[in-house]
Amino acid sequence: MSETEVAIVGGGPVGLYLALVLLHEGITPRVYERRTDPADGSRSIGVHPPSIELFDEIGLASAFLARAVHVRRGLAFGERGAVGDVSFERCPPPHRFVATLEQRETEWLLRDALVARAPEALARGVDVLDAQQGDGRATLTLAGVDGRTEQHRFAAIVGADGKRSIVRRAIGASFDGAYYEGEYAMADGPDTTAFGDAAAVFLTSEGLVESFPLPNGRRRWVVRRSTDTGGAPSREEIQRTVSSRTSVVLDASELDAPSAFRAERRLAGSFTEGRIALVGDAAHVVSPIGGQGMNLGWLGARSVAEVLTTAMRRGDDPSAALAADGRRRRAQASVAARRAEMNMWLGRPTRTPRPRELLVSTLLALPTAHLLARAFTMRALAWGI
Ligand SMILES: Cc1cc2nc3c(=O)[nH]c(=O)nc-3n(C[C@H](O)[C@H](O)[C@H](O)COP(=O)(O)OP(=O)(O)OC[C@H]3O[C@@H](n4cnc5c(N)ncnc54)[C@H](O)[C@@H]3O)c2cc1C
Repeated sequence: MSETEVAIVGGGPVGLYLALVLLHEGITPRVYERRTDPADGSRSIGVHPPSIELFDEIGLASAFLARAVHVRRGLAFGERGAVGDVSFERCPPPHRFVATLEQRETEWLLRDALVARAPEALARGVDVLDAQQGDGRATLTLAGVDGRTEQHRFAAIVGADGKRSIVRRAIGASFDGAYYEGEYAMADGPDTTAFGDAAAVFLTSEGLVESFPLPNGRRRWVVRRSTDTGGAPSREEIQRTVSSRTSVVLDASELDAPSAFRAERRLAGSFTEGRIALVGDAAHVVSPIGGQGMNLGWLGARSVAEVLTTAMRRGDDPSAALAADGRRRRAQASVAARRAEMNMWLGRPTRTPRPRELLVSTLLALPTAHLLARAFTMRALAWGI
């Protein structure tokens, strides 16, 4: 048995970030991660201004921004061409853009920073089996690299172990929600468009196409699939779908291996139980259409870090403060999920695209369009949008 203060289960983007904030506040956590390296593939790419500010606090914003594309505009297209655009330039300073970087690169950045600042803080190749609490401590059971089962005791445990969270199961929290209709396919490839560093969204009768610039002259394509097959998409499917719904021609052979996903919404019944808290996808999954899940995870991790730091400094039991914070974070996650649902609704296939185009062009032309930009950049979560 060993006694340290905070254990984090899962060294994905949210767990790694939480570890760096705690370290910044003078608490050395222990992160247990079953993988030895960040996962391949580039799931998440959009990093919003509030998250860039969080990176600033831990001294990582410049390194992150130097690698990322700064997306200052979003273009909207309908069946017959452009229907409007939204500029992030009118969002509050200092970061008037959404940054894009592949998730694995973001994870490497966070991981390298943690290992450089506290080499002992990250335990890789360790599978956490259970989390329990009692007698004023919380206990993790884990299978180490050599396969032996060990138990370690902490003042608090945070489950950042993704949507199949074992910590969530251990505290008995439900994970209610559902899949949305329809499947999506995505792939990254060389940027053959003239959009530069703008994002583009195509709202067509056959379904949504989203396109985001990535570093090194590449672009992410996300398409609502024409038929739900449940199978893996081919490069040709992405190429065909993009060219039939937009005027962009892609070279299929140059696309990365495409992947498919179904958008879903899940919310843990409770984000905490005593000395154990959930953050990131372990607590909430919001639709990737609109891309805010990881950002929401970081915002939540920041507030859990604050609660734990205050409790540790005073030597208090963190349970009550974690519970109050968990209720607030849960409400915030519901707002983000509703916003993502709005994006899903806008991008659905429809036989009558014209009213939707009119709605979008009107909203983007109104003097209040900057409020949409704020909502898109997660600057308006506190207002409930
Ligand atoms: C297609 C797609 C596109 C997306 N795009 C965006 C976007 O643009 N912007 C955005 O904000 N979000 C986006 N998201 C969401 C984003 O990817 C997730 O919200 C984010 O990965 C959650 O991070 P996490 O650290 O909470 O969980 P995860 O990334 O799932 O990490 C959990 C970690 O815990 C480890 N782990 C799990 N169980 C154990 C265990 N028992 N013991 C030890 N380790 C364990 C895992 O190995 C993993 O490393 C997207 C998601 C998808 C699917």
